[in-house]
Amino acid sequence: MKIAKVIVDVPVLSINQSFDYLIPEELAPVVERGMRVIVPFGPRKTTGFIIDFVEKSDYENLKSIIEILDITPVLTDELLKVGLWLAEETLSFYITAFQAMLPQVLKSTYEKEIELLNEEGLAEELHNLFSGEQIIPYEEIENSDVSYTQLRAAVQNSLVKINYVVKSRITKRYINEITPNKTIEELQEELKNLRKNALRQREILSYLVENFQTIEEKTLINKLTGSTSSVKSSLKALEKKGLLKLSKKEVYRNPYDDKAFKRTTAFKLTEEQDNAIQPVLKSIKKEDHEVFLLHGVTGSGKTEIYLQSIDAVLNQGKEAIVLVPEISLTPQMVKRFKERFGSEVAVLHSALSTGEKYDEWRKIHQKEVSVVVGARSAIFAPFDNLGIIIIDEEHETTYKQEEQPRYHARDVAIYRAKHYNCPVVLGSATPTLESYARASKDVYTLLTLSERTNEKPLPDVEVIDMRKELHSGNRTMFSRKLRKAITKRMERGEQIVLLLNRRGFSTFIMCRDCGYVEECPNCDIALTFHKRNQSLKCHYCSYEKRSIHLCPTCSSDKIQRFGTGTQRVEEELYKYIPGVKVIRMDVDTTRRKGSHERLLSSFENEEAHILLGTQMIAKGLDFPNVTLVGVLAADAMLHLPDFRSSEKNFQLITQVSGRAGRHDLDGEVIVQTYTPEHYSIQLASTYDFQEFYKHEMKIRRTFRYPPYVYLALLTISHPDRTKAIQTTQVIVQALSRSISDDAIILGPTPSPLEKIKNRYRYQCMIKYRSEPKLNETINKLLDQYAKEMEQGRLQINVDMQPYQLM
Ligand code: ADP
Ligand code: ZN
Ligand code: ZN
Repeated sequence: MKIAKVIVDVPVLSINQSFDYLIPEELAPVVERGMRVIVPFGPRKTTGFIIDFVEKSDYENLKSIIEILDITPVLTDELLKVGLWLAEETLSFYITAFQAMLPQVLKSTYEKEIELLNEEGLAEELHNLFSGEQIIPYEEIENSDVSYTQLRAAVQNSLVKINYVVKSRITKRYINEITPNKTIEELQEELKNLRKNALRQREILSYLVENFQTIEEKTLINKLTGSTSSVKSSLKALEKKGLLKLSKKEVYRNPYDDKAFKRTTAFKLTEEQDNAIQPVLKSIKKEDHEVFLLHGVTGSGKTEIYLQSIDAVLNQGKEAIVLVPEISLTPQMVKRFKERFGSEVAVLHSALSTGEKYDEWRKIHQKEVSVVVGARSAIFAPFDNLGIIIIDEEHETTYKQEEQPRYHARDVAIYRAKHYNCPVVLGSATPTLESYARASKDVYTLLTLSERTNEKPLPDVEVIDMRKELHSGNRTMFSRKLRKAITKRMERGEQIVLLLNRRGFSTFIMCRDCGYVEECPNCDIALTFHKRNQSLKCHYCSYEKRSIHLCPTCSSDKIQRFGTGTQRVEEELYKYIPGVKVIRMDVDTTRRKGSHERLLSSFENEEAHILLGTQMIAKGLDFPNVTLVGVLAADAMLHLPDFRSSEKNFQLITQVSGRAGRHDLDGEVIVQTYTPEHYSIQLASTYDFQEFYKHEMKIRRTFRYPPYVYLALLTISHPDRTKAIQTTQVIVQALSRSISDDAIILGPTPSPLEKIKNRYRYQCMIKYRSEPKLNETINKLLDQYAKEMEQGRLQINVDMQPYQLM
């Protein structure tokens, strides 16, 4: 074992391959596959992952590994395999795939810094930059007037030097501990001999005599009267006398206080649940890989099935991964897992701090937990004895990552589960057409729960035609029916959830006289109005300007905001419903860490009548006192250029309806729409998934969309429009030559958003059934353009099985 194959952290196409490095003798006994290393690469150093070892290399003059960054590998052999597969499936760089599988802090990057060696003769601009410091970050040069020539001269004359430092950003947390260093008797003796005025030391010693054990410094500081610094200095004095020992202990940040969770035990399953869980238990027992689609209405006890399946897996000494859409949105879900499995559970989601995420990851890596509940990227949890993977709300589009590697968590789940011969359970009340079609063809095994565990029927849904409201003179956002229903709930002391379907919806500025719309100068999209600072912002490029009061084309002052945001709805609620209290949940009110939980718990404590929010309130929430759900503008996304818009609309209405009447009180749902006749609204109002599936499948077949075909979307962008079109044309021609007659290529067409950040975007979409060579063909094309792409003018984005078509 002499040579290591390393994937280096240089994400450009022309070097998307492994490089050979010699292993220095002193490192030979410790290197392992899956470790991160520092290697020389060209004139610089970079990090990389060891993926394999070989005896001989085809290359001469190999360089050596400089350093290893890990004591134990961060990627197991299995995860290395997953990473290589992932890169190939999604046409990404190997390094990008590996990095996507690790917590942020392990994506160590190099940082350049400049060290001052000799001030004499240093250019003044450069000298000023240091302003007394010895070392400054390299960025400061980039942001200053110092020219590259000046810098080069300084380096050549040894006045400054440039250091490359690995900034691993690993931050472990420590607590200070105090341990008695003498016997109780000896300490009591010392206590007697202490000077009278050594008050603080006396307090500390008496505390230690009474609590004779290792204690946390923080506990002591809280107990004693003195300031933190006086306690600390007294502790130092006592340590000097040899009476106690001060030490540091590494601890995990624990975002959840495990002791706060009461332990629950398994429910006795209903007959329906029992029928559904048996095949899963069988697969666990026989160690057979199988994919189950658990189709159960909201409140039918799917989660209980997950919990009991995991229990069986833990009894086998194996591990479990549970994916939930975006866990911070459902603290209630975390609670259910913690209540059943206690500190066996690690939680991974985006609202944790970087340090917290790293700590949760390490608990998995060091095998201190055996269950992980997390959002999409938790699918890469470094378990090595997986017994089950569960994906709750499998229809959620957040399971698809929208940047490289553009993977779908479901595909990774199935790939990993095959390796471990274990089952995958996909659960949903509204499965995707793709999954349901696979279940109908027996590729997946269908398990059905058709009743709620409380045997209550699903709440009645009433569809309100907002056009009629308008005709009869109601110009508000709320139908008379909804307003009455809200007031009734307020009188009865019950609560309301209001969903504003906001996808494709925002507040923009338009002139009522001439139709002029304020658009972003860099992007092909209307600017969004922000009330708080009266500004207009672009959501794609962050362009911002002050709002306007006169139309720039016709000078009319009837230039006003259009569209509906949650803020607008909130204002109107206060205006039209006297005495109402509203909690608004949207991206603006939940930006700060923990604000989500705070808003939800104040709603739970009945501090408001109405919880008003966007998509984020549709999922997983469970409030016993909610008896009315209102959907405002149910058709808001039906008009988007996305073949999944009906499906998404059906899912959203069904999911949010499930929030009402989950407990003793009966629920009611009111859906407001301008297109009440649309099948996705009609069928959602009767909870008719089967009929919706049939209807939507017909449409997908007619227009050749998934699940009847696979899709690949290539988006080509360039600052020069002609270049973008020409390149897309060349790519389309090349593709048509190499794919089968069965496939269809659409394009070149402008993307739905034709210009973003001053780049023109064109696309081509491939619809295909089976093209084993497609990835290879696209890769060759990308290779052809590699140079041009590295220069940064041309961008080609490939999205296999895209979800975002805009
Ligand atoms: P879903 O995940 O399908 O929406 P849940 O698992 O949340 O459904 O179940 C709904 C409610 O029914 C929960 O309050 C849960 O505790 C309860 N529940 C689940 N299974 C049982 C059972 N076998 N007996 C009694 N209550 C149950
Ligand atoms: Zn105008
Ligand atoms: Zn813009």
